[in-house]
Amino acid sequence: MSSRALRHLTVVKKYSLTPNMLRIILGGDELASFPEGQESGYVKLCLPSNSLSGKSLKRSYTIRAFDSEALELTLDFVNHGDNGPASAWASSVQVGDKIMIDGPGAVKLVNMSADWFFIAGDMTALPAMSVNLEKLPSDAKGYAVIEVLSEADKQSIQVPANIEVHWVINPYPDQENTCLVDCVKKLSWLEGDVDVWVACEFEAMRHLRRYFKQERMVGRGQIYASSYWKMGETDEGNKAAKKRDTEADL
Ligand SMILES: Cc1cc2nc3c(=O)[nH]c(=O)nc-3n(C[C@H](O)[C@H](O)[C@H](O)COP(=O)(O)OP(=O)(O)OC[C@H]3O[C@@H](n4cnc5c(N)ncnc54)[C@H](O)[C@@H]3O)c2cc1C
Repeated sequence: MSSRALRHLTVVKKYSLTPNMLRIILGGDELASFPEGQESGYVKLCLPSNSLSGKSLKRSYTIRAFDSEALELTLDFVNHGDNGPASAWASSVQVGDKIMIDGPGAVKLVNMSADWFFIAGDMTALPAMSVNLEKLPSDAKGYAVIEVLSEADKQSIQVPANIEVHWVINPYPDQENTCLVDCVKKLSWLEGDVDVWVACEFEAMRHLRRYFKQERMVGRGQIYASSYWKMGETDEGNKAAKKRDTEADL
């Protein structure tokens, strides 16, 4: 089996990490060929679709951890109710249930040689932000702005001393808001070459990308900005919006 492939796995552990974040650990022999060092990258869960085409629905989840000895892959799921197949699957699945995954896709790491770092995102990007923050050099400086649904959803993350962490509490991420953007804009700009990493809801991502590129003159090669979901749209709608947005942003 090649490193990027479809794999049949089993849910081996499931527990609440915080009130709105479920940790699900998948295991199975087919992980023997899973490549190491893919944390911050993603896999796609293949979920059954009700449509007549019978094609499965795919949903992206970040590789929070991979244990190549135990053959265990750790994914963290924001619980946003049973309005989406992935969120509904995560809340109802039980240890022993089977799931197929596709991937892994590309890792999403900051450029470690930058002078300073600006990392921002909502709860869907918390697994990827955590990996990035844990990998930063110990003398790294900058900011991490992290939006979560409640005070109790804050996680303890290993962060270099000079990375200032700002938690933004937003219990209604599916209603129009600018909390993440407002917090980012309030922070004073540092000297030197920055590396910006942003992942969150589509409109918030567009606001932040505009802010960094147009107001802070951050160059194309110094910013990763990705929409991880889109308010009022399924993942298929988010992908279509992302495609139009990328074409317009070229
Ligand atoms: C590269 C990548 C990595 C990702 N990693 C993670 C991860 O590690 N953990 C994680 O939880 N998510 C992650 N996401 C986001 C996740 O894929 C989306 O939230 C996805 O839409 C969930 O699918 P679903 O089937 O539950 O809902 P969908 O069928 O896609 O959507 C159904 C409804 O739910 C709404 N919705 C979707 N997500 C949210 C949300 N977070 N909050 C409120 N409403 C929502 C939609 O707007 C829509 O109205 C990642 C996305 C990408 C692109």
